[in-house]
Amino acid sequence: MNILNKPFDTQFHTAPFSKIKNEDFLPAIKKGIEDAKAEIDAITNNTEAPTFQNTIEALDFSGEQLDRISSIFFNLNSAETNDEIQKIAQEVSPLLSEFSNDITLNETLFKRVKAVYDAKDSLDLTTEQLTLLNKKYKGFSRNGANLPEDKKQQLRDIDKELSKLKLKFGENVLAETNKYELHITNEADLDGLPESAKEEAKQTAEQKGKDGWMITLQYPSYIPFMTYAKNRELRKKLALAFGAKGFNNDTLDNQDIVLKIAKLRHQRANLLGYKTHAHFVLEERMAKNPETVNTFLNNLLEKAKPAAEREFKTLSDFAKELDGIEQLQKWDGGYYSEKLKQKLFDLDDEKLKPYFQLENVINGVFTIAEKLYGLQFEEINTIDKYHDDVLTYKVADSDGNYISVFYADFFPRAGKRNGAWMTVYKPQYVKNGENSRPHISIVCNFTKPTKTKPSLLTFNEVTTLFHEFGHALHGMLANTTYPSISGTSVFWDFVELPSQVLENWCYEKEALELFATHYETGEVIPMDLIEKIKASATFHEGMQTLRQLSFGLLDMSWHANEAPETINSVKAHEQKAFENTKLYPDVAENCMSTSFSHIFQGGYSSGYYSYKWAEVLDADAFEFFKEEGIFSKNVAQKFKDNVLSQGGTEDPMTLYKRFRGKEPQPEALLKRAGLIEK
Ligand SMILES: [Zn+2]
Repeated sequence: MNILNKPFDTQFHTAPFSKIKNEDFLPAIKKGIEDAKAEIDAITNNTEAPTFQNTIEALDFSGEQLDRISSIFFNLNSAETNDEIQKIAQEVSPLLSEFSNDITLNETLFKRVKAVYDAKDSLDLTTEQLTLLNKKYKGFSRNGANLPEDKKQQLRDIDKELSKLKLKFGENVLAETNKYELHITNEADLDGLPESAKEEAKQTAEQKGKDGWMITLQYPSYIPFMTYAKNRELRKKLALAFGAKGFNNDTLDNQDIVLKIAKLRHQRANLLGYKTHAHFVLEERMAKNPETVNTFLNNLLEKAKPAAEREFKTLSDFAKELDGIEQLQKWDGGYYSEKLKQKLFDLDDEKLKPYFQLENVINGVFTIAEKLYGLQFEEINTIDKYHDDVLTYKVADSDGNYISVFYADFFPRAGKRNGAWMTVYKPQYVKNGENSRPHISIVCNFTKPTKTKPSLLTFNEVTTLFHEFGHALHGMLANTTYPSISGTSVFWDFVELPSQVLENWCYEKEALELFATHYETGEVIPMDLIEKIKASATFHEGMQTLRQLSFGLLDMSWHANEAPETINSVKAHEQKAFENTKLYPDVAENCMSTSFSHIFQGGYSSGYYSYKWAEVLDADAFEFFKEEGIFSKNVAQKFKDNVLSQGGTEDPMTLYKRFRGKEPQPEALLKRAGLIEK
């Protein structure tokens, strides 16, 4: 029998990576789907009347084997992939989405779920059970299960059209990005660029069979040029090309697509009984409705705007003094900001790295987890791993009880995608009275050790490690009954709280003393360096905030709009949305919406605000720690009991208030960002 379809007869039942062969995946997933279907059939064929246990609970525990196999598969596809796995992924993905569609469209199953839902007030359910019931019911109703047949068909047509448009939007942005090149033949035009960026540009030119240097609209090429290139005319040329993506009135133009997407999303929401697309999306977010989001954004705007205007004035004066710039333009911002930052802070990664040896940082974050939550990390070499670089730990509580398995995979490899993330091989849940503990992993792409030096992290890598470890704690400390609401399975605008809050410890002396010691001399990082890190972290925070808010407001202007069909000019609509956040003069030939992939292609529609929302939460939560000491057992216990262990068992605002004693306030963030007086 396929090893993936059998129970894992291993220590802690971890995945037997070394025994799994690539060719096992497809048949195992097919068998997993078959078994899960049989479990669903057993629910729908049950002759007894629907109850919470025989329907909702049974549904949540169905497909356990399939989930386990697909977690292993997709985690490997991200962290240790190859052509074969990628090919299998293309076969597997449609099978899995077909299976999940089959469930959502299963009318017999929905009838049973609805019967339980309609009777919910008389069922004497726990809060967690009520949350699960609501979630399961919404999973159907938000996909049209309550609609009459003709409207169901209409909904499916809209969904089909939307997915085509979103795909086309993304393809256009990609094609626009790839087709542009700025060919440079005079080396003086690269003045100001770091050597590494010049080398990159030379290589890019070589790859395209040209001499000289090539700058493109890809971030690793575009950003260094805009930040360092002295030549203002070329910066302008590049910035105009970047800002015109999808706005060139040609075959790659996205203006019509933007209007159509906004209109169709609105129609879809109306069909399901919601006022706007934002109302539909926000129903399942902590913010709940567009009014809260708009108030939130505008409130921050009011607070951040004076600081942003001051910073803009200072930056303009600086540019004028340095190069006689009369009017600061969009293509000047990055360049003069960097110059001013250098002048003010004189801080670079090389000065900090010796204090952040990877092993020390790992021990530091473990010590912090022990001080706060009593967790013990023991490295174990008795469980299977998918690559030699992966570190494996057994995590126990202060009494030595087993809590979780923890995998940590730190260095880049050919088969690993970029970035850093936390992921789950097995969630936590309680089944047949047994608390089944989770298997959690973090994956990063940090600086590798060399022959002469250990892995020395940049400060950004240090905060990334803390961030992902914060997500990992959310997974490890999970203590709920049902798998689909365990650990990090929470509302989108709440999930970054545990991760972002932990980053705060990276700036605190008491915490840094635990691990930020020089890898050669053992000297603790000097406090003036810490102060510089803090000050430079909030440099131009007002302008940054304004920029983030402008994107959030633009997002809402499209998706909380009650009559998107009346919008006929993307550019005019956008100018109006940007009215209150504008610092630089508008550029007529540029448009943001036509390449705003986050909201028109990705999953961030009506969700862009959540970046700032999560910052408000994490600053407010950390303020509580600071009030009682950053290692306060009392505050840590409250955070663990009400947030880290609770997953999505209750509305996040309720959980947060229980932890904090009150609703989150933006003041802590504004203070931390230096936007209001401390
Ligand atoms: Zn995160």
